[in-house]
Amino acid sequence: MTVHPATMKERAAEALHNDFLREAVKITTDKFFAGKALAQRSLGDWEAWRERGRAIRAHVLAHLDYYLGQLIDQVKSRGGKVHLCETAEDAVQVIVDIARARNARSVIKSKSMVTEEIQLNKALEAIGVRAVETDLGEYIIQLAHETPSHIIAPAIHKTKKDVAELFSQVAGKPIKDDTDTLTNFARQKLREEFLTGDIGITGCNFAVAETGSVALFTNEGNGRMVTTLPPVHVVVMGMERVVPTFEDLEVMMNLLPRSGTGQKLTSYVTVITGPRREGEVDGPEEFHLVIVDNGRSRILRDPEFREALQCIRCGACLNVCPVYRQIGGHAYGWVYPGPIGAVITPLLTDDLDRWGDLPYASSLCAACAEACPVKIPLHDMLVRHRVRYVAAGKTPPAERMAFRLYKRAFTSPRRYRLAFKTAVTFQRPLVKDRHLSARLPGLAGWTAGRDFPAAAPKRFRDLWPGLAAEARQMGGADHE
Ligand code: SF4
Repeated sequence: MTVHPATMKERAAEALHNDFLREAVKITTDKFFAGKALAQRSLGDWEAWRERGRAIRAHVLAHLDYYLGQLIDQVKSRGGKVHLCETAEDAVQVIVDIARARNARSVIKSKSMVTEEIQLNKALEAIGVRAVETDLGEYIIQLAHETPSHIIAPAIHKTKKDVAELFSQVAGKPIKDDTDTLTNFARQKLREEFLTGDIGITGCNFAVAETGSVALFTNEGNGRMVTTLPPVHVVVMGMERVVPTFEDLEVMMNLLPRSGTGQKLTSYVTVITGPRREGEVDGPEEFHLVIVDNGRSRILRDPEFREALQCIRCGACLNVCPVYRQIGGHAYGWVYPGPIGAVITPLLTDDLDRWGDLPYASSLCAACAEACPVKIPLHDMLVRHRVRYVAAGKTPPAERMAFRLYKRAFTSPRRYRLAFKTAVTFQRPLVKDRHLSARLPGLAGWTAGRDFPAAAPKRFRDLWPGLAAEARQMGGADHE
């Protein structure tokens, strides 16, 4: 688990000073968003597809024990091994044990957010096993010792120059920063890794319960190398990533790439069912499915947040979020950025003190919920998180006091009148052009970035009798 030291506010402030980051995030997410609009049109009734996606995911969550049981039986019947892991530590231990049993020296990985979540690479390195990311974006951020800044575009924040510097360190000589040179270099280096890796580790976009198959949606082909070349394939999946049938998988196959990158289909869709069988030329000798809970059961039991497990990790909510688009992914501090990150990070970590401020990184505009292909009400969940945060007394004392006073003033007409008159009197020396001064103690954090309108000298209610009389004199209607 990568934990950055600062608060959300501090990390966001840092990101706001990074002009390149903001521009890069904007260009990429705009491109994804424009592609999405076109791709979803090609599917016909997009809302009907979204509703199907939602219904499938909700049905799975309502019967997760059944479908997990079916999946496990099917994987075992096809010669695979299944490991149910309650915690991140359990999952890491299982994989460390597999690596030790095979005397592995290196593992090659295709993109997996769950392995980021359980901090697998660090654990493997601690036992002397080299873990190599083979998705190009993941490879770049691994070299930079960073975490992904977007669910599906992990190195969105890196320039070509940054990448060239990282590759030059690997090569031990300068590498030019043109795209062809960089991709050729990565291809050559990763090919060596594919051919020598002892174990292949992948995530899992979806596991199909009826056959025990695992589906990977990728764009670079590295997933196929990782799953076919090494003698052992380990799949690490979050326990919610099950779909009942191939028909359901087809729905997800249509929704996920369209929502995330605006593609009708990813370049590769790889479906793996157990280890290599007799007579087959490709595939691993050993197949392991590591099913990770790590807080998901807790979310499943929570009626206010269960729907968060419907997530198919498409990244669409990030692409449209006005906050994510300004601050990028690292400001969220952990593995999952954007609106879905702000929802699931406090839940998965069960740590309000550390992550309870993430749900405040939202304007609550609901663009995320609109974009979500499986209709997760993300904005409602962000509000629910805030309610819990406030109820747990985690907000600053000054803020609590301010809201208490606000409540008192706004729940009694008499107190409201008094508060208004007091505000108008006391604000006088601070008002300039109908706004409060940016130097106002306690409000500078707000007024430095936006205007704080001053209270009008007279309330509309006080003006109304005069306005109504004026209207009557002019022969207009009186709606009093
Ligand atoms: S919450 Fe919805 S939009 Fe966001 S990543 Fe998950 S499925 Fe995609």
